[in-house]
Amino acid sequence: MRKFFHNAKPTAYPNEKIFSFLPHNNTMLHIPVLTKEVLQYLNPGQNENFVDCTVGQGGHAKLILEKTEPKGKVLGIDLDLQQIKNSEFLMAGSRGRLILINDSYANLQEIVEKINFPQVNGILIDLGISSEQLESSGRGFTFLKNEPLDMRYDAVNNGLTAEKIINEWPEDKIENILKEYGEEKFSKKIAKEIIEIRKQSRIKTTFGLIEIIKAATPSAYWRGKIHYATRTFQALRIAVNDELENLKKVLPEALSVLSASGRLAVISFHSLEDRIVKDFFNKKTKEGIIKILTNKPITAGTEELGKNPRSRSAKLRAAIKIL
Ligand code: SAH
Repeated sequence: MRKFFHNAKPTAYPNEKIFSFLPHNNTMLHIPVLTKEVLQYLNPGQNENFVDCTVGQGGHAKLILEKTEPKGKVLGIDLDLQQIKNSEFLMAGSRGRLILINDSYANLQEIVEKINFPQVNGILIDLGISSEQLESSGRGFTFLKNEPLDMRYDAVNNGLTAEKIINEWPEDKIENILKEYGEEKFSKKIAKEIIEIRKQSRIKTTFGLIEIIKAATPSAYWRGKIHYATRTFQALRIAVNDELENLKKVLPEALSVLSASGRLAVISFHSLEDRIVKDFFNKKTKEGIIKILTNKPITAGTEELGKNPRSRSAKLRAAIKIL
């Protein structure tokens, strides 16, 4: 665990740094998805404690804190230091009940144990990326802006960037991640084009990469329902941040830190994530450890779809721990 932001007991970590928090100049509010449904399935009550594994800008955390007044606590984790800063700033009113940790949720159990977070009644994992990161991080998450090919949530400690993958990984490895993490049908062609272009000069920007993808794919693909760079960008982001492995790691840890009758809610944004959650829930149901609360994944209703484009691909699955 690295930086540690704690409103209640700062002494738990002798070496921790306490920052003064200022958000980006242009911080925009991320609209949390499926809020009604998250509250319905997590069912937070007075004085209960919750972990928000992906606190972002605290959209869900704030709603949970309202339901758990006066004494319930939320432990908010985020891998992106800027998100922690934003969250701290935006949630300044909840001092004492919101504990913020800058770390990966893959270390959930260790974090909970280290800070002695009391009885965990529920856990939320809202996967993926926030609108704020897409719009204002400057880290190349979006193909709509010309930015450096970075794509790290943890821009401080993660040594792997999208630029490194694109310029230094062998062709077959690039092809593989595009195929596996992006489900990109032109993975072979795109990987080949990347290798050709990088022989001439290093590929450093999102727009540079987009040009390469365009050159490698047929024109019909450019007019598809989703932008032709979507799958490549998704694949790179998953690879840079090891997203699927982290998800596989956090799920069992979430069950072990949950108290009996505690609830776990996971919101995923693409089929690879959803499959991992679904398989895990089915396995743990067979083992008699959980009961699934959502037979089918819950998706956004028409009203939310109209207001928040991010909700389009959101799928919520929830379960209750029975053992
Ligand atoms: N629910 C939040 C939004 C979450 S967006 C809100 O309402 O504001 C997803 C967040 O997960 C992002 O902030 C991202 O930085 C974070 N994240 C991604 N991978 C992570 C990981 N391995 N550990 C912790 N946080 C992670």
